[in-house]
Amino acid sequence: MQPLMDKRRHYALVGRSLGHSWSQRWFEAMFLRQGLSDCSYSLCEMPSLDGLRRWVADGHICGFNVTVPYKVAILPLLDAMSDDARAIGAVNCVCVTSGDRLVGHNTDWRAFSESLLSCGTPLPSTALVLGSGGAARAVAYALGRLGVESCFVSRTPGSCPVPDAISYDDARRRAAAAPSLLFVNATPVGMWPDVDASPWPWPDDFSSRWTVYDLTYNPSPTLLMRHAAARGATVHDGLDMLHRQAALGWQLWQNPSAAAL
Ligand code: NAP
Repeated sequence: MQPLMDKRRHYALVGRSLGHSWSQRWFEAMFLRQGLSDCSYSLCEMPSLDGLRRWVADGHICGFNVTVPYKVAILPLLDAMSDDARAIGAVNCVCVTSGDRLVGHNTDWRAFSESLLSCGTPLPSTALVLGSGGAARAVAYALGRLGVESCFVSRTPGSCPVPDAISYDDARRRAAAAPSLLFVNATPVGMWPDVDASPWPWPDDFSSRWTVYDLTYNPSPTLLMRHAAARGATVHDGLDMLHRQAALGWQLWQNPSAAAL
């Protein structure tokens, strides 16, 4: 007898700890709106990526998103990568083609870029990007394409994996001298359940010269956003970016030939 084929289309988010994530909520609402009763989206917490390929095969996974802390760690497990993902060095969206071929894409950079432009805030000439992980790299790549010079800010600038990162103290000096500044939080600091923390230890530094974009969306506002808004800065949370990267990922999953590269 032939084994029963699973005709449902399974999608997922892979990360280590996913209690903060609203991705499942977004996808399930979209499936409902579009009448896609054969689709599911689940949150898959993995302590490591060791069993990833087996999970894809056993779960009949058609595509999945990748989040903290695996956007860089997943690279060696992929069969192919888009040019953008390769240039960024991080993947947040994987298409499974031909049953088991893993093709990595990065939709974070375009989602950030489109979200920033939709805010209508004039682009400053200088940007600070806190963090050196997958999200920070996607943001820096997006800013580069928009002609905005950016600088990574790291706790360990000498040994972190991105080039030319500066320390928090140096970033503080640079921010004070900038006539206008885009300040992006691409660290998990302040994200649920760590809601009483801010990645920037100087709450009085913010001013109306700053635009603060916090990639966190849960909670919103974050402590960082509250500090910034209290000093007159323009603030944005990461919810619009989340929606945009999810929609871009869905487009890829629906277009296997584009997704396969
Ligand atoms: P990641 O790969 O784990 O990198 C985070 C970076 O933040 C690290 O490289 C580290 O840089 C810094 N960091 C980590 N812990 C820190 C701490 N306790 N204090 C200060 N800095 C710390 O994570 P990611 O994938 O880049 O994601 C970062 C954040 O962006 C997450 O909160 C994620 O949910 C959010 N995000 C949101 C969206 C969206 O659509 N809204 C999209 C992507 C990501 P250093 O070690 O160099 O300091």
